[in-house]
Amino acid sequence: MSLSPKQEQLFKQASKHIPGGVNSPVRAFNGVGGTPVFIEKAKGAYLYDVDGKRYVDYVGSWGPMILGHAHPDIIAAVQKAAEDGLSFGAPTVYETTLADIICEIMPSIEMVRMTNSGTEATMTAIRLARGYTGRDKIVKFEGCYHGHSDSLLVKAGSGMLTLGEPTSKGVPADFAKHTITLPYNDIEAVKACFAKFGDEIAGVIVEPIAGNMNLVKPIVGFLETIREQCDAYKAVFIIDEVMTGFRVALGGAQALYNVKPDLTTLGKIIGAGLPVGAFGGKREIMECIAPLGGVYQAGTLSGNPLAMRAGIRMFEHLRQPNFYVDLNAKMTKLLNGLQQAADAAGVPFRTEHAGGLFGMYFTDQPEITSFEHILKCNADAFRLFFHGMLKRGVNFAPAAYEAGFISIAHSDEDIEFTIQAATEVFAEMKAAEV
Ligand SMILES: *Cc1c(COP(=O)(O)O)cnc(C)c1O
Repeated sequence: MSLSPKQEQLFKQASKHIPGGVNSPVRAFNGVGGTPVFIEKAKGAYLYDVDGKRYVDYVGSWGPMILGHAHPDIIAAVQKAAEDGLSFGAPTVYETTLADIICEIMPSIEMVRMTNSGTEATMTAIRLARGYTGRDKIVKFEGCYHGHSDSLLVKAGSGMLTLGEPTSKGVPADFAKHTITLPYNDIEAVKACFAKFGDEIAGVIVEPIAGNMNLVKPIVGFLETIREQCDAYKAVFIIDEVMTGFRVALGGAQALYNVKPDLTTLGKIIGAGLPVGAFGGKREIMECIAPLGGVYQAGTLSGNPLAMRAGIRMFEHLRQPNFYVDLNAKMTKLLNGLQQAADAAGVPFRTEHAGGLFGMYFTDQPEITSFEHILKCNADAFRLFFHGMLKRGVNFAPAAYEAGFISIAHSDEDIEFTIQAATEVFAEMKAAEV
């Protein structure tokens, strides 16, 4: 775990004026030990740290980099946009174009509003559900992460899990009491909750494939039951596709599972690496947003021309006929290789994936469908794996509770390099008997 002296020094300097040395807790190494790697630059499938060391990257800035880092078309779009001015505080045609593209790809979205982050999108979707229904209660699921607004930081996933404190301090009990948290994939719990509180529930928000507690796919009937119950009680069904949108399939998880939400939240990929988010859905609900309606939402930099023009360029790639076929093929090659290497070493290991999103589990449990299953995975094994891979130049998210991301820029050689590194690491793990 010894970093270079330069890395240690940079982390010390960062920690002086930045809490924990990081601007988002998921970048810290609390879950794996050690200190984070400082990155100098990135290109394609690779990150390069400040010592010039190369890493094959499976974080992709936590999702946006589906084309790989610093894709020339995206960089050119951003450079051109920058020359035309960074922000106007007035409409541009690029906002219209990106809105049109999103509505075309996701037919459940009839109107869409851009924000600056996924958090803003989910926070506003909740406010909108409340404003539209005139009700207060929100239903969410344990281990799902929907950004860091107050109502949604109750029993949340992602960095909250690593810190071992699933409900944030500073969230007033008066807010938290309006958030009902149910176990993910628990169909009976959804039905029971609606039977009890149905008339008070403004909406349900769910990660359609949970990607903030490692990766947990929805069981058959889970999303369908939420849809039915929301219909029966006139509650708003919000699918949070900030992570899954345009990553698990072009049309997102809602296309993959053929389920139609009332509202969808987006982020990550749509800005190609620039700060962005969006929420959209049924016209009737979206018309409640200011200036058309009484639910207020705004943003000085929302619909920023750099992010819009980067996003538009990104979609030209994503809409190529074989994009997701190729992405899936890369994913399958990687996961099959890792599985074979683990099996050969005798390390209990499983994987799951949807499109370019994947999960890795150090466990011999036959299936992973709940947060409980994730908690039973071997965290010590993950830590050894993580550091062994990092040392060999492969970057995974520094926590057992995060999903993995592949890009279209990952070549066969990059994948083989990863599998070779894993073969060595699995052998070490077996020897260490974790
Ligand atoms: C990342 C994420 C968010 C929050 O988006 P930010 O841009 O980080 O605010 C919300 N929901 C899900 C499912 C996410 O993965």
